[in-house]
Amino acid sequence: MTEAYPIIDHTYDVVVVGAGGAGLRATFGLAEQGLRTACITKVFPTRSHTVAAQGGVSAALGNMGEDNWQWHMYDTVKGSDWLGDQDAIEYMCREAVPAIVELEHYGVPFSRTPEGKIYQRAFGGMTTHFGEGAQAQRTCAAADRTGHAMLHTLYQQSLKHQAEFFIEYFALDLIMENGECRGVMAWNLDDGTIHRFRAKQVILATGGCGRIYFSCTSAHTCTGDGGGMALRAGMPMQDMEFVQFHPTGIYGSGCLITEGSRGEGGYLTNSEGERFMERYAPSAKDLASRDVVSRSMTMEIREGRGVGAKNDHIYLHLEHLDAHLIEERLPGIAETARIFANVDVTTEPIPVIPTCHYNMGGIPTNRFGEVVTIKDGNPDYAVPGLMAAGEAACVSVHGANRLGSNSLLDLVVFGRATALRCAETIDRSESHRPLPKDAGQYALDRLDKARHANGGTPTAELRLQMQLVMQNNCAVFRTQEIMDEGVAKMAEVAKGAADIKVTDRSMIWNSDLVETLEFENLLEQALVTIESAANRNESRGAHARDDVPDRNDEEWMKHTAAWIDSDYNVTIDYRPVHMETLTDEMDTVPPKARVY
Ligand SMILES: Cc1cc2nc3c(=O)[nH]c(=O)nc-3n(C[C@H](O)[C@H](O)[C@H](O)COP(=O)(O)OP(=O)(O)OC[C@H]3O[C@@H](n4cnc5c(N)ncnc54)[C@H](O)[C@@H]3O)c2cc1C
Repeated sequence: MTEAYPIIDHTYDVVVVGAGGAGLRATFGLAEQGLRTACITKVFPTRSHTVAAQGGVSAALGNMGEDNWQWHMYDTVKGSDWLGDQDAIEYMCREAVPAIVELEHYGVPFSRTPEGKIYQRAFGGMTTHFGEGAQAQRTCAAADRTGHAMLHTLYQQSLKHQAEFFIEYFALDLIMENGECRGVMAWNLDDGTIHRFRAKQVILATGGCGRIYFSCTSAHTCTGDGGGMALRAGMPMQDMEFVQFHPTGIYGSGCLITEGSRGEGGYLTNSEGERFMERYAPSAKDLASRDVVSRSMTMEIREGRGVGAKNDHIYLHLEHLDAHLIEERLPGIAETARIFANVDVTTEPIPVIPTCHYNMGGIPTNRFGEVVTIKDGNPDYAVPGLMAAGEAACVSVHGANRLGSNSLLDLVVFGRATALRCAETIDRSESHRPLPKDAGQYALDRLDKARHANGGTPTAELRLQMQLVMQNNCAVFRTQEIMDEGVAKMAEVAKGAADIKVTDRSMIWNSDLVETLEFENLLEQALVTIESAANRNESRGAHARDDVPDRNDEEWMKHTAAWIDSDYNVTIDYRPVHMETLTDEMDTVPPKARVY
């Protein structure tokens, strides 16, 4: 029987779970509107993964040459391989311009042009004149620390607007009543107390789930907890098969080694010392597009030509480059390689592997941030009381493939949209309805079960098994056979979860227990990801299949929605893509081949 945990009750208009870019933009927007707002976060706000974003945030400001939001929209639809919802993309690209100006006024220290405007750099897939013109310079940057600058500014604004923070609180599960979200349960890691938050709206802004893979560039905290909570509350996850991979993450740690290292003359080799990219992409070689390089590396490893004791990675060479050049142009890379791979790049190669970088999929929402599901034949049914924003959500503006610098934009535009929607829909004078008697019991039962898990397999071992299956069977190289094998192997991992072993039973700073709860969230998302992938019989964006190389708009221009039950059985259905635009300032971008 579940232990009787003492519970501390709270009541707010809105509770935001997550204090990354999306959660903080929502939080202070809500507080600014006069709504009583709490923000719960498992790590200190400025340690959220948003802090690691380097490149920048897109907006058609036109500071460095001609630009407009319609071109940005065209590029984003094309980048999404026509899976993105065009109404949401239109909203994001139009709102991008005022959103960036607003960020500047809030205090984000953007880099400047000589005349004092916000500096903008070029990024992949960003063009002018609807793909016909030159490369656009659309990505606003604060040096190579844009996410850091944004996150600190947003946190300061939240404090200024007197939002209340619950820091180092771990959100366990949603409180649901008859299909409506009524609040959320959380565990204070510092003193072991349990907190029950009652709210008129809960906003999940918990970030991505990169950690379902063995190698990912995102923080250890990116375990998709919001997705896990939503799935357990009966919501689907959308388009989870679309995962963006970067070719060069450091083997083992996943830390990003920028494409710039190959731009400066670095190259890849296999166990035979061969520069294999010359075979796969004779002209672009090591600088072919990210998905091509990642897939070629995976082919080499699968065919037994990987390097290292397990033949499971590839070498990136910089040692032939002039040491001065490395010092001048790649100092960060040299430092990262030293710290995370114990490699001196001037004398030895860096061990690298294609690495999970971004989840296009997530909790489905409309452009207001309301969570949507398929109900009674309505594919756009908005779930009362529940919203989502940021990488945890799938609006969907990135469709099958995200363009670099569109994610930071997604955070601020849709974080703000959730706040605006709450201001519109929440009646401040209406008193809070009492919660049902057993509110939160579901979360406590799960917590108790995990805490007393007394099987034979440590959480870390099961997590590693899951991560290796996902890395080998659901990464960049996909065929029906490989994915089906992965589905079977993941079923074994899920079975193994019954034998989990937790050794620490304490309620205070118990990392064993935190990791076990996170593992459950990861496992559920890994299962819906691999099954959604095995079910999509076409190639689109990041879901590139060797056995079915073409996109099939007739049958597959639709969003995957995947549910999971308590026995880990996955059910799949599909929602239509929104093709219509919101205003007559922009027409629908009709599907065509995605060539660059
Ligand atoms: C290395 C790297 C570089 C990148 N560079 C760029 C770039 O240049 N441009 C760009 O546009 N995008 C970039 N991205 C992508 C982008 O940074 C992310 O998609 C984005 O920052 C995600 O923000 P978020 O607010 O959704 O979540 P996060 O910043 O990940 O924050 C999640 C929050 O949720 C909280 N949380 C999670 N689970 C729980 C729980 N159970 N209980 C309580 N709190 C919880 C965490 O404490 C945290 O505060 C990059 C990503 C990486 C990994």
